[in-house]
Amino acid sequence: MKIQYKDQNTIIFESTIFRTTSTVIQTADAIFVVDPNWLPFEVEHIRQYVEANRRGRTLYLLFTHSDYDHIIGYKAFPDAKIIASQAFVDMPNKEKCLQEIRDFDDQYYLERPYEIEYPKVDIVVKEEAQQFRIGDTVLTFYSAAGHNADGIFTIIEPLGIWIAGDYLSNIEFPFIYHSSVEYERTINKVGKILVAHDIKIFVTGHGDFTTSTEEVKRRQEVSVAYIQKLRKAIQDSENINLSAHWSPIPFPKTMKYYHDGNVKLMLKELM
Ligand SMILES: [Zn+2]
Repeated sequence: MKIQYKDQNTIIFESTIFRTTSTVIQTADAIFVVDPNWLPFEVEHIRQYVEANRRGRTLYLLFTHSDYDHIIGYKAFPDAKIIASQAFVDMPNKEKCLQEIRDFDDQYYLERPYEIEYPKVDIVVKEEAQQFRIGDTVLTFYSAAGHNADGIFTIIEPLGIWIAGDYLSNIEFPFIYHSSVEYERTINKVGKILVAHDIKIFVTGHGDFTTSTEEVKRRQEVSVAYIQKLRKAIQDSENINLSAHWSPIPFPKTMKYYHDGNVKLMLKELM
């Protein structure tokens, strides 16, 4: 399986599918796995890596949000403690997420050696800037709605790792399934988070990590510009194609599909 990044504490695996990341972080007290995904052999690879490196430590699975690609590997880690948001717990369409996993596996003849279930959460993130401590490790959570309704940003200190989920990617513009207003609110937390935390590694859900806070800010600006341009174009009944935003990105046909989805959602918001 592709390794995007590795140091003595952190490894970022990258799936062949949609360049989705799975991050494993080891501290003195615990081992954290973020969104283990996609293909059965990839999830198994991550599971074996975790077992080989676990050394008796408590295992935590952190889910950035409930989109099916991010929860697909849940039951491969049966003794893990689960971390996710209150909205993730309250998600009304759990069965839809699970059906999307089953449909994906059905389409590609994939079999998994574990059950497909919706994660049962042990540590629920309920408040903005809520913290969870284990030994010297501190996790700080910020709500990150907009892409979907139950996302969270997690900052892991003192390592300075920001786990962003499906925001601030270098290979995707904003995919907005929930709310463009919430989406902007979420990505406008960048400045505040960069002041409050010493970020050394920024990990996005799809695409490349970065160690540059300037790059995180650049991604924020590009995302905000896209959302605001699209909203204005819809308000002014102008050309909403905005192909300049997505055609230079690889896989323009798929990007157009998501762009069209954004247009539909924003049209509803502005009605
Ligand atoms: Zn995703």
